[in-house]
Amino acid sequence: MIKTDPTQPPYTDEVITAIKPPVVPDSLLHTKLRQGEFWRQIPAYADIDEATFLDHLWQGKHSVTSADKLEAAIQGLAPQAFIEDVKEGLRKAPMSIRVSPYLISLIDWKDPYHDPIRIQFIPVASKVLRDHPMLTLDSLHEQDDAPVPGLTHRYADKALFLPLDICPVYCRFCTRSYAIGMDTEEVEKVQLSPDPKRWAKAFKYIASRPELEDIVVSGGDAYQLSARNLRLIGETIITMPNIRRMRFATKGPAVMPMKILTDTEWVNSLIYVVELGRKLGKDVVLHTHFNHPDEITWVTEQAMLKLFQAGVFVRNQSVLQRGVNDTKETMQLLMKRLGHVNVHPYYVYMHDMVKGVEDLRTTVQTAMNIERHVRGTTAGFNTPTFVCDAPGGGGKRDIHSADYYDRVTGIAVYTAPGVKPGQSFMYFDPIDTLSPDVQARWQDPVQRQAMIDEAEIKSAAALLAQL
Ligand SMILES: *Cc1c(COP(=O)(O)O)cnc(C)c1O
Ligand code: SF4
Repeated sequence: MIKTDPTQPPYTDEVITAIKPPVVPDSLLHTKLRQGEFWRQIPAYADIDEATFLDHLWQGKHSVTSADKLEAAIQGLAPQAFIEDVKEGLRKAPMSIRVSPYLISLIDWKDPYHDPIRIQFIPVASKVLRDHPMLTLDSLHEQDDAPVPGLTHRYADKALFLPLDICPVYCRFCTRSYAIGMDTEEVEKVQLSPDPKRWAKAFKYIASRPELEDIVVSGGDAYQLSARNLRLIGETIITMPNIRRMRFATKGPAVMPMKILTDTEWVNSLIYVVELGRKLGKDVVLHTHFNHPDEITWVTEQAMLKLFQAGVFVRNQSVLQRGVNDTKETMQLLMKRLGHVNVHPYYVYMHDMVKGVEDLRTTVQTAMNIERHVRGTTAGFNTPTFVCDAPGGGGKRDIHSADYYDRVTGIAVYTAPGVKPGQSFMYFDPIDTLSPDVQARWQDPVQRQAMIDEAEIKSAAALLAQL
């Protein structure tokens, strides 16, 4: 005899034998998003109301672009020595800075040296490490595989289109520091300005290649395209008969989620292209770039809900970074929290081998270890693949698929037979993680070449042994 209604708690009178005790709800950290008007603790934003803080134009206008502006915003929250360290750091950095008030509000200014958001966006001189001698500015060789400036055609069926070179923020670690942001004292940039004439050449090339089915529109950042240009680019590409799939890549949701809530025109353009694609039987999605669970707040949750309800699918690509997300706990929490707000974790990248950010890179071993701890903690479709975008243009390789990995010299060798058959690609662990003796060998050009040659021979032998 059932007295309880099986559609209502407690569902049944039967006693259920527990296999393990239920968790305490408060321990589910991925569901605990930052709430309230958290920005008011920053002196410059103390009087800013919610409507103003959520206005994307206000966010853009008040972005911090210099050490002086940072000082003015946080007014004594951080020690003066830290501000001096930032000033010196900016003189040496390959990227200019641009940090939204949203991010400024999420940084713990009592401990800025260890804050995962500060580390990503604001350089300090005292943490700079010596570059590995194998680092370059365009480590992915995107310019070598570009038939038209700003269009990289490396893989058989997909291409990367960079319509512009500006972003809502500038990340210290940008792979495209060869183009993105203002010229700095260190780097004079390649120009990729939003130029419809250059775009027309890219469109012509894409339409002329029947094998191209999939276009990544990145940048710079699709957030910075006007609503009109977003629609123009989206409509032009998705209506090409050869194109089946398209993604807009933007850091926006991680650094300025309020734009999704308040820039109606831009969001409507995005939804328009997604719906146009759907009518044509083609897939249009948004790819974004969260690196740390602190970047996901109630504002993010509302923004992602809006996109989810409008039928816009969002995937995430993170970069594994030392001091930011290089522990299993942080990475597990990030993936669970992304799932919580309906963002699907797609990739976690090894940090690209770009100059001036050696303090952010990790070893291949670190990535392998963290991957083992992340896989299995949530749904398989919310579990990212850890990849190394092999320097030299081999494309993304599963981190565990190295043909050879010497943990002493820090050399990992990958092959990419589906992309560039017959070639091998090397990733080099950060030099400061190697023994002093091996660090010295890297500084000597003859010994350096000997280590590389040895890795090449041993990886070829390892491959042969598998035949
Ligand atoms: C990453 C990338 C793509 C897309 O690759 P997926 O593995 O499909 O996400 C396309 N072109 C270039 C040059 C890329 O770097
Ligand atoms: S948003 Fe992307 S393209 Fe722009 S600076 Fe950051 S990493 Fe580079």
